[in-house]
Amino acid sequence: MTAQIIDGKKLAQSIKDRLKSEIAGLAPKPGLAVVLVGDDPASRTYVNAKEKDSREIGFYSEVRRLPKNTSEENLLELITGLNQNPQIHGLLVQLPLPGHIDESKIILAVDPAKDVDCFHPVNTGALFSGLPRAVLPCTPAGCLELIKTTGVSLSGKKAVVVGRSNIVGKPAALLLLQNNCTVTICHSRTADLAAEIRQADIVIAAAGKAGLITGAMLKKGAVVIDVGTNRVDGKLTGDIDFASAQEIAGFITPVPGGVGPLTRAMLMQNTLNAYKAQLQK
Ligand code: NAD
Repeated sequence: MTAQIIDGKKLAQSIKDRLKSEIAGLAPKPGLAVVLVGDDPASRTYVNAKEKDSREIGFYSEVRRLPKNTSEENLLELITGLNQNPQIHGLLVQLPLPGHIDESKIILAVDPAKDVDCFHPVNTGALFSGLPRAVLPCTPAGCLELIKTTGVSLSGKKAVVVGRSNIVGKPAALLLLQNNCTVTICHSRTADLAAEIRQADIVIAAAGKAGLITGAMLKKGAVVIDVGTNRVDGKLTGDIDFASAQEIAGFITPVPGGVGPLTRAMLMQNTLNAYKAQLQK
């Protein structure tokens, strides 16, 4: 039996449709500001997509596209202005930034209440401690939404996260833990990746290595979530070798059309949540 494909596009659209109808009745509108420094093609595509989603849903949207040689000081000034702007409820600075800008300084400069990427330590710390916050990390939260659509109960399940970045791997592991999974985090120094993955009822792959995980490494019936986005011969492909994995997994996300659309939808959800939290103050 081949795995059921989890349709990320469809799920993301249903979330966006729900947000759109909720936002239609709101005044003032929630506002999202996105800042892009430089001309990295992938970042440009992501920012354009975020702008499109914002407008489609009915947010007030501001996109600031700055030249590559923008100074750290000027970027910090812009962030301060957006932090203080009452029309803006969500603010994100697209990463990576050019090398002369200290990313950690920029992450710390964003008002945690507007940090819809959930990168600020106030928000990641709240996640770590299990404290309620308006925002969740977008990609890991999207992975959880995808897993939940399978109807597979998370409680007591063995989950393996491949990757330990601050943006995906670590927060994904924390969310799985909060959902009562027994979680293993694998990374580039893991001694036997296949042995770890073979135990897993749930696999979240976020290594950024095309085809790293094959069907032969999976447990039969596993839920497999592929975060990886790798360009191979100009084609977008995940960390999972889809053809072989589909023969073994119970559920699997495609690339493209899996995690990516959910990451975007979660950003929109975070913006609405941040707006509500700010209005309540
Ligand atoms: P990263 O480079 O910061 O982290 C990669 C992690 O993978 C590291 O922790 C590393 O230890 C681990 N790793 C590398 N090689 C490995 C190996 N052979 N075996 C086991 N672990 C290994 O990347 P990131 O920002 O976490 O992103 C990971 C991937 O997810 C990338 O392909 C990125 O483009 C993609 N991504 C997709 C979305 C989306 O919305 N679809 C969002 C964020 C990131």
